[in-house]
Amino acid sequence: MKSPTRRRLLKGAAGAGLVVVAAPALLRYAAAQSWRVGDPFSLGVASGAPRPDGFVLWTRLAPEPQSINPLTPGGMSGGDATVGYEIANDPGMHDVVRHGEAIAEQAFAYSVHLDVRGLPPGRPYWYRFTSGDAASRVGRAATLPAPGTALERLRFGFVSCSNYEHGYFSAYRHLADENPEFVIFLGDYIYEYIEERRPVVRRHSDGIEAATLPTYRNRYAQYRLDPDLQRLHAEAPALVTWDDHEVQNDYADKWSEYFDDPEQFLVRRAAAYRAFYEHMPVRPILSRPEGPAMRIYDRFTFGDLIEISLIDGRQYRSREACYGPPDKGGTHLETDASCPERRDAGRTMLGFAQEAWLNTGLAHSQAQWNLIAQDVLMAQLRIRQDNADAFSTDDWDGYPANRTRLLKRIQNTRVSNPVVIGGDAHSFFANDLRPDFLDPASPVVATEFVGTSISAYGPPYDVTARALPDNPHIHFFESRRRGYVAIDLERSHMQVRMRMVSDAADAKADIATLRTFAVEGGRPGVVAA
Ligand code: FE
Ligand code: CA
Repeated sequence: MKSPTRRRLLKGAAGAGLVVVAAPALLRYAAAQSWRVGDPFSLGVASGAPRPDGFVLWTRLAPEPQSINPLTPGGMSGGDATVGYEIANDPGMHDVVRHGEAIAEQAFAYSVHLDVRGLPPGRPYWYRFTSGDAASRVGRAATLPAPGTALERLRFGFVSCSNYEHGYFSAYRHLADENPEFVIFLGDYIYEYIEERRPVVRRHSDGIEAATLPTYRNRYAQYRLDPDLQRLHAEAPALVTWDDHEVQNDYADKWSEYFDDPEQFLVRRAAAYRAFYEHMPVRPILSRPEGPAMRIYDRFTFGDLIEISLIDGRQYRSREACYGPPDKGGTHLETDASCPERRDAGRTMLGFAQEAWLNTGLAHSQAQWNLIAQDVLMAQLRIRQDNADAFSTDDWDGYPANRTRLLKRIQNTRVSNPVVIGGDAHSFFANDLRPDFLDPASPVVATEFVGTSISAYGPPYDVTARALPDNPHIHFFESRRRGYVAIDLERSHMQVRMRMVSDAADAKADIATLRTFAVEGGRPGVVAA
């Protein structure tokens, strides 16, 4: 969907020497603009990164959202633009409590990351952006409750793995219908690759694997044009982390699935992270990317009820165990005999700085519940292969020393009601977490729930189903359904509903509950609800 006409919102100064004097006049021109070519708010709005006194409001000006001309992202050109914003106490935007102007930064594809501060805690707000004669849709934001405030209940959802080519995003729509207080995105928000083997429901519009800044931008823009995703972002604040497909399948730090030159791969990663930043409601102070580095791990505390540690499982991890050509890039199965390296104590999933940050947060948390929100399956999944135990190298089974350290730490510091959530597996899981999964006497110290994909195809059911007797800590597994997970949290009870769509290939799919589980306060482990 390349656009034949490129809109010049801000006519760039033809001579470089004119830029400085021209900029203010151009900004005024932008404010007086009438948008005849396209809706500048075609990609919708989002809120995220909530704090007790504020949140981040996001939009990106893109009158031609699928433009992949690197000189005119979204059909825009020229220097930074300004947009108006309004924040109100009501969805009708009558009682406006804050208004002003925000910058749509040219350097970040004319995205806006408005860091709103100074608002009262524990309140819902509604907001919109304006530019010339155009106004965005209205979105909902919220400030977190003041620290320590007694909070009785909270409903939220978590999602992962929305492959546009594999289906529609009905799961996002149905989650929006549940009016969650917020949604946690656990990664694979986009897919960089083009499906070449399996059925395709709808195509990535450019037909090429995203690997450069314009192609990653184009991918995000196409996903954000999806009405179900756009509505979910408008109606629920987002907490976001990533997995691999925001960059490349099964990458680890600078180590590509395809053994690319690590320095070259970091150039690609820099483009991918930058496009992620440009499209997500993350804090500009914390998360603005610098080259291939971008910090996204963060912590959110909802009164005295729950603290959420949002983790980055890709940027800092060690190379996949026993990595090497011809076929040991990305995930592969290894036994202790074939790959002793997998168990090395020096290997890390989180990176040691993030691990220390997580440990400190868990040790100091005053919350009833402590959620670790991250990208991949944490529980061990032992697959019998030629009379030996084999383990995947891409999830926590590839980093067992880091997993044991974390779970022992949770045990020793008596973290209150620890729960881990994850995605990536395109399957539902409900698991007990033990420091040593092979020792039945090892205590259950935490509970894990993995959500299935929004639309991405699941792995073969039989392989994992056959392995379940060897993995008694796994209470439930299902890879044949697409959907999301909804959580209803009370002080002494967490209810976990695994929600499934009738058919991801149907844009109007229905929703139903596949299974419901619970965690009881003070007693780690999965129970039937
Ligand atoms: Fe995925
Ligand atoms: Ca993944």
